Amino acid sequence: MARVFVITGPSGVGKGTLIRGLMAREPRLELSVSATTRAPRPGEQDGVDYHFLSREEFDRRVAAGDFVEHADYAGRSYGTLRSELERRVRAGVPVVLEIEVQGARQVRAAMPEAVQVFIAPPSLDALRTRLVGRGTDDAEEVQRRLTVAGHELHAQPEFAHVVVNDRLEEALDRLTEIVTAELD
Ligand code: 5GP
Repeated sequence: MARVFVITGPSGVGKGTLIRGLMAREPRLELSVSATTRAPRPGEQDGVDYHFLSREEFDRRVAAGDFVEHADYAGRSYGTLRSELERRVRAGVPVVLEIEVQGARQVRAAMPEAVQVFIAPPSLDALRTRLVGRGTDDAEEVQRRLTVAGHELHAQPEFAHVVVNDRLEEALDRLTEIVTAELD
């Protein structure tokens, strides 16, 4: 049976880096490309990093029932399109969703069999250092993301698997173990 893996945790915790490492080690996995109303960052490609949608188009697709889950995050909307998920599940291809906590909850309600992993920072201070160091967001946006992160960290106990991303290699080993155990 195809498995769905939800990787969640606060912005800046290293979900993207861990998922890239995981997918290099587990080539059976495919990544669901999310939709968002936020503007592309330099270097981001439409259809590859995200499906970048206008607010009108996003809302139209919500009303059409095109999303498995969707949520507002730091003033923008993000969501998983059914088309990204369902064709892979039907074809037996295991799929990874990189989403925030509200979306993870919606997936848990709709698909309790999905495997959910929360990636936690060693501390909020470490998260701040990473968000600032990443350089993708201005000071205001970093602050917005840290405020959300404070709430998201309280959600940790809801998750069957929690991986603390202190040392990247160790966190990647742990994440790979969890995923491989489910796939085999
Ligand atoms: P960013 O703007 O940094 O790319 O993403 C902001 C947050 O939205 C991150 O925590 C990211 O994991 C989350 N996110 C990305 N795609 C989705 C999605 O499809 N659904 C939900 N609920 N969150 C998403």
